[in-house]
Amino acid sequence: METWQGLIDSEYRRWLPVTDRTPTVSLHEGNTPLLRSRHLSDVTGCDVRLKVEGANPTGSFKDRGMTVAISKAAEEGTELVVCASTGNTSASAAAYAARAGIASAVLIPAGRVARGKLGQAVRYGARIVEVAGTFDDCLRIARDLAGHHPVALVNSVGNELRLSGQQTVAYETVDALGAAPDIHCLPVGNGGNITATWRGYRTFRAAGRIGGLPRMWGFQAAGAAPLVHGAPIAEPQTAAGAIRVGNPATWQGAVEARDESEGLIGAVTDEQIFDAYRLLARHDGVFVEPASAAGVAGLLDRHSHGLLTPGQTVVVTLTGNGLKDQDASLRDGYTPVETSSSASEVARALFPAALVDG
Ligand SMILES: *Cc1c(COP(=O)(O)O)cnc(C)c1O
Repeated sequence: METWQGLIDSEYRRWLPVTDRTPTVSLHEGNTPLLRSRHLSDVTGCDVRLKVEGANPTGSFKDRGMTVAISKAAEEGTELVVCASTGNTSASAAAYAARAGIASAVLIPAGRVARGKLGQAVRYGARIVEVAGTFDDCLRIARDLAGHHPVALVNSVGNELRLSGQQTVAYETVDALGAAPDIHCLPVGNGGNITATWRGYRTFRAAGRIGGLPRMWGFQAAGAAPLVHGAPIAEPQTAAGAIRVGNPATWQGAVEARDESEGLIGAVTDEQIFDAYRLLARHDGVFVEPASAAGVAGLLDRHSHGLLTPGQTVVVTLTGNGLKDQDASLRDGYTPVETSSSASEVARALFPAALVDG
């Protein structure tokens, strides 16, 4: 088999807004694992599959849209790309811009971005602008900049390029399963991902690739759930930084995905999110960042309310890699066994003393 060359060159070019004149800027994103979760399947009686987007080159699904957005920026001769970010968009934009030889600037809410994500943007060479405000403030400023200066905005708002790239998660899911799942669960922050995933399924249905469509089940953090309440939130609160968004830019698209699919957008508490975060690592060996666990938290919450039918196929997007947020992991604490550098002492510490010689 030919090695994977990324979304544009390997598989999905005909579904993406690129032409022969578009130089492909790729880190070979996409083609991520779709893992069966034995634990979640056992608990729910459904066939639960995990779409592990943390396996993308910069560790989140944002790379799917960024390969398209930066390829087009390169085609247009853009010299500077900007974005507002809770962390992962900036990491992705900075990486793809570096690969294209384009400068990047990222606007992040000061003191609120996980260090792993900030470290990525720094290393890829982005200009970092720390805004004293929320993500929503960053986005407002980035849009204003793009309106008045010669820069390309690579947020998904008003950037159909990124949404079209993000649709590929649905294409890959269909190609792997041979059909659409019954339900597709995912976290919702700014609303781009649920919009794009739904559009991806609809595109494949319009093309005759699938007969049915999934219900889209999106989940926001309870302290940052504007789509659930139906109104923006000025001070969104959650420890899951990637979904700490009070006024989703793709509000309308998210609502359409929910309504057209006869799905839902629900809220899950931080406690439910962190329980799911621990459970995924412990039972499935998949380390995600906290926000990424919201889809699993929501699935379990709906299951506890009797809203799943046994035998259904459920895909859950795990949006980002746990390595990005070590502080979240270590917050639980851990108790090391402390020993000298003697092998027998280590053995005694790990096994019942009676079983160890000497
Ligand atoms: C961006 C992001 C989200 C939220 O996606 P939206 O498109 O903003 O709804 C969720 N999880 C992670 C890890 C992200 O990076």
